[in-house]
This record gives sequence, structure tokens and C-alpha cells, in this order.
Amino acid sequence: MLEVTDIRFSYSGRPVLNGLSFAVATGELLGVVGPNGSGKTTLLKLVTGVLSPDAGDVTLNGVGIIDLRSRERARQIAVVPQDPQLPEGFSVLDLILMGRNPYLGLFQWESKCDLQVANSAMEYTSVAHLAGRKLDELSGGERQRVVVAMALAQQAPVLVLDEPISNLDMSHSLGIMNVVRCVQGERKGVSVVAMHDLTLASMFCDRLMMIAGGRCFVIGSPQEVVTADNIRQIYGASVVILDHPKTGTPVVVPSSGPNMARDCHQC
Ligand code: ADP
Repeated sequence: MLEVTDIRFSYSGRPVLNGLSFAVATGELLGVVGPNGSGKTTLLKLVTGVLSPDAGDVTLNGVGIIDLRSRERARQIAVVPQDPQLPEGFSVLDLILMGRNPYLGLFQWESKCDLQVANSAMEYTSVAHLAGRKLDELSGGERQRVVVAMALAQQAPVLVLDEPISNLDMSHSLGIMNVVRCVQGERKGVSVVAMHDLTLASMFCDRLMMIAGGRCFVIGSPQEVVTADNIRQIYGASVVILDHPKTGTPVVVPSSGPNMARDCHQC
């Protein structure tokens, strides 16, 4: 169980998170949604111990994340950052094998078992055909899938992903969200994902938390969170919510748009 309790954080005295609390249970996938600048990335950095809160706690099964040594933290939490800095000159397989580092001793090489784990992670994310390619030769979408593969190879009980499908086409977006759901479900892991696409977030996440102004505006099932009223209040956008014909989850459709073209003629 991952628990965040009354967490507060400021950048140079400018508050970004003003007392946010939630818990994610084993096997659960929580989606974090909210407008640009609402604090999603900052929250995920606090959850993963990249930043320390000014106040409040983040605990995993009762132990403070900040109190874990970096190696132990890497065994417990795998992260897919929004804009990862990848090492130059490395191949895709080299990078994915780095996901096994928390389990290796000093000067120890990866075993056959580590290679198997890396291979399955590449299969899951459809990057096996890229194994020998250099990271700097990949497209944005390929890099994104490779970073997800590395995080899966880490086999950590907690998986935190910051906009993992922002560069992906529809097919790869569905693939990555399916993998996160299935693999973490099988591992009974805790997953937290920041996403912009409210329709896909509703399809794949067990619960959603909509944040704004550094606070949780609403947390609950996709049906409770993704409503036209909440979206109007938090995003200032006018939308219509339909029911997905297969999953019954909310589908967000903009309810205005074409009159923008008329405004354009006045430019
Ligand atoms: P989101 O992920 O929801 O877009 P962020 O957590 O990236 O939001 O940003 C929240 C707020 O914190 C924004 O106003 C942003 O400008 C500010 N911010 C983010 N990173 C930094 C930083 N390193 N230094 C100062 N301000 C930052």
C-alpha cells in the first residue's frame, strides 16, 4: 500500500502542492489528471523520492520513501519520467538491462535470468526488434516504449509513470496501457500514472484523482471524476460525456470548436 499524507511542496517559496492525501492499494492503478501546471509531475517526483516534501509523508507499507536507501528504493519503485535523459552510446538492450542493476552486486554481470526478464519487457512493449539499436537513433515514441520496458524490467512493486503515452500513436498507447494494467495486475503491484487523455485514463485506471490548485479536487471511479461539470470547473472546457459502448467508461467529446475558424478570419 502506497500512502501519501497531507503532502506540501513549494518551489522557491511558491506553493505547488497544498496538502494532498491519497492511498493506492495493491493491484490498483490510480490515474492522476489535471490541467497543465497543476502539479502532477511534482507530485510524482515526491511519490518516487526525487523531491522531499516540505511537510507530510509518502510511505510504502508504512516505511517512509525518503528513508529508503537508493538501491532499496530502486527495488521498490520503478519510474517512467516524462522527459528521461538517456545515456549516450547505449543500445536499447543495454538500457533495459540497467533496470536489473538494483539486483546486481558490485562488479556482477547480468545473469541469464536478468536477460530473460529484459527480453520479456521488450516483448511486452513491442521493442524487441530494436534491441541492438542505439538509443539516439530512435524516434520519440520508440524511446518512450524503451523507457517503459526498462521500468518493467526493474520488477518493482510500485510503478510510477509520468505521461507514458504522450508521444505514442493510438495502437502503441493502448498497448502500453494494457501492459501496465496486466503486468502490474499479475504482480499485484501499485501503479500511479499521470495522463492527459481522460477517455483512455477512464478506460484503464481503477480510480482517478483530479488535481487543481495544489489540492485533490476529486478522487473516485472514472464515472465520478470524469463529468462535464468537473471538467468545466477544472479545465474551463465545455465537453459532452458519452458512455463507451464496450467498457461503459466515460468518453470525453468537446462540445465546441468550429466557431474558432470564424474567429480566425478576424485576425
Ligand atoms: P504538471 O505536471 O501538472 O504540468 P508540474 O508539476 O510540472 O505540473 O508544475 C507545477 C507548477 O510548478 C507549475 O507552475 C510549474 O511552472 C512549476 N514548476 C515545475 N517545476 C519547477 C521547478 N523545477 N522550479 C520551479 N517551478 C517549477
